[in-house]
Amino acid sequence: MLLGSIEAGGTKFVCAVGNEDYRILQKIRFPTTDPQTTLKKTITFFQQFKDLEALSIASFGPVELKKNNSHFGYITDTPKTKWRQTDFLGPVKRALKIPMYFTTDVNAAAYGEYVTSQLYNEKIDSLVYYTIGTGVGGGAVFNGKILQGIGHPEMGHTFVKRHPDDTHFVGICPYHHDCLEGLVAGPTFEARLGISGPQVPLENHVWDIMAYYVAQAAIQQTMILRPANIVFGGGVMNENFLIKIRKQFKLLLNDYVHVPRLDEYLRMPRIQDNGSATLGNLALAYWVNQA
Ligand code: ZN
Repeated sequence: MLLGSIEAGGTKFVCAVGNEDYRILQKIRFPTTDPQTTLKKTITFFQQFKDLEALSIASFGPVELKKNNSHFGYITDTPKTKWRQTDFLGPVKRALKIPMYFTTDVNAAAYGEYVTSQLYNEKIDSLVYYTIGTGVGGGAVFNGKILQGIGHPEMGHTFVKRHPDDTHFVGICPYHHDCLEGLVAGPTFEARLGISGPQVPLENHVWDIMAYYVAQAAIQQTMILRPANIVFGGGVMNENFLIKIRKQFKLLLNDYVHVPRLDEYLRMPRIQDNGSATLGNLALAYWVNQA
């Protein structure tokens, strides 16, 4: 069975075709430009696959996920002005005429990690997935269902206590300045230090400051949702940073509630190269085709 995946990021689109065993058969990536050009490229890619049965879209947000809303499938109030109030699902669905699932990039990534944990037989019934990259976001899957209320979660825009050595940094979120995203997203390296993230050595204290914030986010998830795992993906993440996060988490938690061993509880994605959303999409496309 041929299934499609669209991973729509603020800087690039990744389109892939795979099967129900989550094997990717073909994949392309191209930069995100204006909606018309980008969606046309997307549609053209999928039109070559005549046997494509279903597709899932994982989009940067915010997006409208309520099916009874007239703007279902739209990207809504994004800071990327060209994409504001853009109908994403509509044109793709009209062109390809197959069942489609529509969600956020982090929801699909959370779902991909959830499905993978089932394949690994890890018996995980719940997890939270964070991406820490150009932006910060998160999604949660509980008992096979993506958590969703009147809108999708906006886990990147929660508030954290300031690190005593970081009181002067204003933060980069255009809405809140010093929310989680405003303090730990990739571009904060440039904003704090004048150099980009990959060039900042791990000895730099900024990593400890950021670990303190990400650990607080993990504490919030632990206390509010009690998930079995919290997974951290995205361009800023690496194993050494995660070790710092676990250390801060342990101090902040102070043995208050039981959590699994920290190297299992707070972990990197099982799926390499930030491929969690693509795999999640294939699983969601399979699901929507059966539904
Ligand atoms: Zn914010």
